[in-house]
Amino acid sequence: MAEKRTYQNLHFIIIPPPFQGHINPSIQLSLKLAAKGFIITFVNTHSTHNQITKSRKLDGIFAGARESGFDIRYATISDGFPLSFDRSLNREQFMEGRLHVFPAHVDELVGNLMGSDLPPTCLVVDTFSTWGSTIANKYGLVYISFWTQPALVLTLLYHLDLLKKNGHYGSNEGCNENKDNIDYVPGVGAIKPSDLISFLQETDTTKIMHRVIDKAFTDVKKADYIICNTVDELEPEPISALNEKQPTYAIGPLFPSLFEQPIVEMNLWSESECSQWLDSKPRGSVLYASFGSYAHINRKRIREIANGLMLSEVNFIWVLRPDIVSSEVTDFLPDGFRENVRNRGLVLPWCKQNAVLSHSVVGGFLTHCGWNSILESIWCGVPMICFPLIADQTTNRKLVVDDWKIGINLCEGELVCSNEVANKVKDFMSGATSRDLKKGVEEIREKLENALLSNGSSHTNFDKFIEDVKGKIEKHKITR
Ligand code: UDP
Repeated sequence: MAEKRTYQNLHFIIIPPPFQGHINPSIQLSLKLAAKGFIITFVNTHSTHNQITKSRKLDGIFAGARESGFDIRYATISDGFPLSFDRSLNREQFMEGRLHVFPAHVDELVGNLMGSDLPPTCLVVDTFSTWGSTIANKYGLVYISFWTQPALVLTLLYHLDLLKKNGHYGSNEGCNENKDNIDYVPGVGAIKPSDLISFLQETDTTKIMHRVIDKAFTDVKKADYIICNTVDELEPEPISALNEKQPTYAIGPLFPSLFEQPIVEMNLWSESECSQWLDSKPRGSVLYASFGSYAHINRKRIREIANGLMLSEVNFIWVLRPDIVSSEVTDFLPDGFRENVRNRGLVLPWCKQNAVLSHSVVGGFLTHCGWNSILESIWCGVPMICFPLIADQTTNRKLVVDDWKIGINLCEGELVCSNEVANKVKDFMSGATSRDLKKGVEEIREKLENALLSNGSSHTNFDKFIEDVKGKIEKHKITR
């Protein structure tokens, strides 16, 4: 006999894209929902699961969460490619697979889950996914779009039609002809075309990412709710403009509470130990440098930065993933670099970023401006020197440097030369620049902290979001 679902047994399926910057906030969202007593099924691809379990010894990814009483279940599905396929090297092909093949695997999984004892009620889909509405409609699920970047970026992408109409994206001539500031997007003050996300600045807009963007940001408009890993007080205008269109809730920042030992970890690479090295350095003297989990950089730019760091004489920890240039290129550092910086520089393939940023010796972050990295840096009170590479990073840089004044640019435009790096880094790590930036970071940090208080905006928004989902389920009398 059909049993009416109650709030307690709401069941959320959460399917993050297979990238660290999306997986991390999705884990935190899962924990937040599970802490309310809801059931979660967290879904990874076989390949992500394989990479995580290879990089660390894991006794069941969510074992710690289950020991804490959370009902988090775990499932894996194919992304359409064999495990041996190099997804980093063949990114375009991989993204084609995500667009055309992956949705069928999601459909099969959700179909199977619908036949389980407590079938899902809600589908949480990353906003960059293209299939949310199709699957949610097919199985009668509440469709929740999860946005893991700044609301500013979402607002711009939400209004692709306006950007196209005004010649700021994909104009007929094959180039973005309008060089004027963009001042017509609701909730966005004037913004330079060069501050748009990198994909929107490209002249050939027929590539895979453009097709994904076109589809995903049409689909988001069909979502029942949008939740964002940001904070009302940081981005009030874009959030309220989005809210005019669809129910949108800023519920961030989503990261492990107080950066304590997290109960769930899903690093795609194993972290190198560096706490002893950090302990040996003077307070505030270390620059932490990392370009995140996804971007590639060419060898020439890495060498200029390496030589700049060498000339700067600043202490540094530099995370360089094995595939940072390409999985086929392993010798990207200048000859003798590690030896030359031996006493004051550490190069690692991956680290526990939160532990590094929250160490008192770290005084600055040379960052690619990934949104998680920015939030984590603010949380730790660390100013940033910005080197955006791809995707939302170009827009995020604007927030950090131009709007919030908690960071500086490493270089103007694309070009970077070692002398400029050395001078900028030296200035950034010492004296008045550093003092002013730190003051700014503290002010922004306070906004994040306040948002998480029990009467804070993110806390309240999260509760409101839950109430609204419950209301929708009640109204439509979802029965199983
Ligand atoms: N990260 C980490 N160790 C590293 C480098 C990065 O744990 O050595 C984490 C970092 O804390 C952040 C995520 O990886 O949570 C990267 O996300 P972000 O949005 O900053 O950049 P993306 O990887 O998406 O470009």
